[in-house]
Amino acid sequence: MNAWKRFFALGLVVAFAAAFSPARAATEIAVTVDDLPGHALDKGDRVKTVETMLAALRKHHLTGVYGMINGGRLADEPQARRVLELWVAGGQLLGNHTYSHLDLVKTPLSDYLADIGKNDPLLRELMGDKDFRYFRFPFLAEGDTVEKRAGVRQFLAERHYRIAEVTVDFFDYEWIAPYERCLAKHDTASIDWLKSSFIDNARGAVDIAEQLATLDFGRPIKHVLLLHLSRFNADMMDSLLTAYEQRGVKFIGLADALADPAYRFDPNPLVPRSYTFLNQVRRAKHLNNPPQVTALYNALPEDKLDALCK
Ligand SMILES: [Zn+2]
Repeated sequence: MNAWKRFFALGLVVAFAAAFSPARAATEIAVTVDDLPGHALDKGDRVKTVETMLAALRKHHLTGVYGMINGGRLADEPQARRVLELWVAGGQLLGNHTYSHLDLVKTPLSDYLADIGKNDPLLRELMGDKDFRYFRFPFLAEGDTVEKRAGVRQFLAERHYRIAEVTVDFFDYEWIAPYERCLAKHDTASIDWLKSSFIDNARGAVDIAEQLATLDFGRPIKHVLLLHLSRFNADMMDSLLTAYEQRGVKFIGLADALADPAYRFDPNPLVPRSYTFLNQVRRAKHLNNPPQVTALYNALPEDKLDALCK
């Protein structure tokens, strides 16, 4: 066989393999960002942080990303309103995370419902005719009594709110305080570790979510990623989105994700912290975590994050 024939034959093999290999379907994920105008532990300039975050979203062609707001923060943070306005002007959307970031376990039901409602005028004002009716439970606490769990769900349904469940979570907020400490100490080696461990855990969270979806539902589902607005996340957003794209993630809107029939399942856990929707479903169906999922949970470097740059 001469060189040209070999080249042609090899080309056919490559083309054949590409056409018939069982290509892994893209994992579809809606990005959501909590605690707008910014996480309480973050000491950075709020406006600069949101501008950095928006630039990364723009670079990766992500629009319609829901930022879940605590409207009460506008009272004591002069830059807060500007952050929310920039978010919407940047093509992103706002949803409800309670006015005061309340923990449902520690709050009487009537107070909690009033606090959700208190966010509405601000959301209406900033969002105009766009749909702000997505609710994210602070601390992912959905109620530890029947009265509270059912009470909030009924209140939200009457107001045409959808619950923005979470399926991909790697405790991103755990990196905020050590980043602040390491920046203050100009500890670049530690900052490099923070960045690499953040991406490792972000990747691991998608592995966990994919495996739990298969365990719970016997199929891939559409996912919802939980992030928080902080300067560390803003500084990491381009790298994070790139890592996810390289992993074959396709970004979708929140409405698209929640339209997956999986979210019609109500696991009804009465616990202080519900954690992710997939974890709730796993527990409701009395399924054990696959060992690989347990290993990934255990890989979260909580102790090192706590101790870093102190
Ligand atoms: Zn929150």
